[in-house]
Amino acid sequence: MSRQMGDSHRRFLQTMMGSGIIDQQGAKTLYQYCCETHNTQHAPDKLDDFIETINSKLQPMFMQIRKGMSEDNGQQYYALVNMAETDVTRMSSDYADNELELFGKTIELIVGSENGKASSTDILNSADMLTIKKLKKSETEHVLNRLVHDKWLNEKRGEYTLSTRCIIEMEPYIRTMYQDQVKMCHICRNMAFQCQICENPSCGIKIHNPCVARYFKGRSEPRCPACDDFWPHEIPEVRHTRSQSRR
Ligand SMILES: [Zn+2]
Ligand SMILES: [Zn+2]
Repeated sequence: MSRQMGDSHRRFLQTMMGSGIIDQQGAKTLYQYCCETHNTQHAPDKLDDFIETINSKLQPMFMQIRKGMSEDNGQQYYALVNMAETDVTRMSSDYADNELELFGKTIELIVGSENGKASSTDILNSADMLTIKKLKKSETEHVLNRLVHDKWLNEKRGEYTLSTRCIIEMEPYIRTMYQDQVKMCHICRNMAFQCQICENPSCGIKIHNPCVARYFKGRSEPRCPACDDFWPHEIPEVRHTRSQSRR
């Protein structure tokens, strides 16, 4: 396989630069479109090789297209990641220092929680403890809205979670900052925030909700894959991706 960047690779990269993150089905469609537009060979199962070629050229610029899973629906996503800045300072062109401090505190709340969520009340309280410059309630709410709009956080009924983009981009930062608190999913081995936890105190493994759905599907009695204790949580349904039929 050729490792040369062609026009099809360049077009794919340009689109990624515009959107920042794309789901797997979108990436497959874009891959096919780029190959057809530039009359190059398109092998449907070679998307990761195609991206590898782009990544080899991005390396000197400290950029990378990296793959990760959505904790909401279990789908794979591709995000264009800046490797040069590993912490929240990567966002310093868009956010003031105290806004980034608030974001850091929000990440801390989410990482320290059992369910991977931080309530708006807790975030507002932590805004009172900013060291750089305090934010008023309305300012805090405005920053949170922007963080959701810029795809760093997700919000549902006043509770905030880390977006897929944030998890993919901030993984090295979170792993370094919160070594002792971050746990990996027992099934997919990625960092786990929104997940179910084994209630056996000597076990306590975490499994993402979509990984729970896939792992326990079709098993008559759910048991912890690590300690074999009964798994007491409600097993979510496997969510179907766009390419599969919905019934
Ligand atoms: Zn998982
Ligand atoms: Zn267990």
